[in-house]
Amino acid sequence: MSHLVKKLFLNHTSENVFQNFEQQFKTILYREYTHLELFHIDCYTIDQYKQLDGVTILEDTKNDTFLYSVDVKIVDEQRIIFAAIIFSPTLCETLNFTEKEKLAAIAHEVGHIIHYFNENLTNANSLMVELKADEVAEKLGLAEPLKTVLEKLKSSKLYSREQCQLMDLRRQFLK
Ligand SMILES: [Zn+2]
Repeated sequence: MSHLVKKLFLNHTSENVFQNFEQQFKTILYREYTHLELFHIDCYTIDQYKQLDGVTILEDTKNDTFLYSVDVKIVDEQRIIFAAIIFSPTLCETLNFTEKEKLAAIAHEVGHIIHYFNENLTNANSLMVELKADEVAEKLGLAEPLKTVLEKLKSSKLYSREQCQLMDLRRQFLK
């Protein structure tokens, strides 16, 4: 029997936080969300991502610390999943994110990628979608640093009223 060495992330950045995340949380993620084993997640900085060909164009990313993209393409009649987490080192520094907070933000994006395939969320509103992603961070024990991420985002004054209201609601739901 052969054992595939499954990798959660392919980290193209110079940030160790992605390796740290993988070391700490891969086992539990694979146990809870088995479909994660079917593909890996590429990690890029926003600048790296913008240089790539044939990827989903991300609109208006200047206020995003971490974001994700998922593309399903048919290659040689096979369904291939391209998933990525993209982050802004500059904005993370401006907002003074700690290592723990970065881990929590990554968990939230991994949560979006996990639930991308969740048919129950097809018609869900944006709060519901955010809460499902937050649930994954919660499951990894990262609720507290995720709360402080949301506080830092809110107090940065970079976001609209609606965005801040959504952040407040998410904070209230985090246990
Ligand atoms: Zn989100």
